[in-house]
Amino acid sequence: MKIVKPYAQIAIKPKYNMGILQTIEDAARISHRSEDGQTDESYQRFIEAVVMKKGDWSVVEHVSLSVDFCVDRGITHELVRHRLFSYTQESTRFVNYEKKMPPSFIYPKPDVVCEYCLAGNPTRYVDIVGKAPVWQHNTSDGRFLGDCAYIAEWLFAIDNIEASYRALLKQGWRPQEARSVLPNALASRIRMTGNLRSWRWFLMMRTTTETHPQMREVTIPLLKEFQDFIPILYDDIIPNRSQAEATALRH
Ligand SMILES: Cc1cc2nc3c(=O)[nH]c(=O)nc-3n(C[C@H](O)[C@H](O)[C@H](O)COP(=O)(O)OP(=O)(O)OC[C@H]3O[C@@H](n4cnc5c(N)ncnc54)[C@H](O)[C@@H]3O)c2cc1C
Ligand SMILES: [Zn+2]
Repeated sequence: MKIVKPYAQIAIKPKYNMGILQTIEDAARISHRSEDGQTDESYQRFIEAVVMKKGDWSVVEHVSLSVDFCVDRGITHELVRHRLFSYTQESTRFVNYEKKMPPSFIYPKPDVVCEYCLAGNPTRYVDIVGKAPVWQHNTSDGRFLGDCAYIAEWLFAIDNIEASYRALLKQGWRPQEARSVLPNALASRIRMTGNLRSWRWFLMMRTTTETHPQMREVTIPLLKEFQDFIPILYDDIIPNRSQAEATALRH
């Protein structure tokens, strides 16, 4: 059983012959034919006045970004509800988790971490008479390392599911059929591409207190990456606000 840590990170950073904010300013100035007013430093004042204060957000749509996510299938279902983005997702029809790679799973409680599992050390069920079920980690020569931090019921469920999936493939089922037993906990790669305005709405909606904890686990670091990579446009988004407060900033 392979358990992985979820993430979201900017996949492809656009390379423009000028900076991202300068590219937006360059397009926006066409409306007033004020191209001659653009200087090396004018973008900061321009973006603050035209986009942030006046609210002309359509001009930021001239720049797009792709983000790579590795999240469970419950979270990919939530991602693809955002209709203005383009997606490519790892396919449970075409990836054979027996031949291509073993399936990976994500533990649904972000605050519970088993460093042994995440380092790739296999967890094994140990039957100790008179004790509650426990899964443990050992060294390759059998020395006890520590108890697995994940709850036994979840580990049993995933272990059984993985065994059933493999058994169905052995009996001739195709991956697109055997996938019916795979759980929401299955880790999935998905690339999501959209313009900077769409990302703003997404990051506002998906970093609030109402957001699923597994979504917030990856979107809050992603928001920070956006804020570090692109000045100004995302600075007013603060994680862990209520959705009503967050979306009051909407443009
Ligand atoms: C905390 C939370 C809980 C949720 N719970 C549920 C749930 O229980 N069940 C459920 O089904 N969904 C749920 N959702 C999903 C939610 O309903 C939206 O589908 C999702 O957040 C996409 O956002 P969006 O509709 O704003 O638009 P996006 O698809 O991200 O589009 C961005 C914006 O474009 C505009 N737009 C896009 N398409 C249209 C259109 N056809 N017509 C007019 N304007 C359009 C809108 O202004 C929209 O806000 C939840 C979302 C969140 C954040
Ligand atoms: Zn473990």
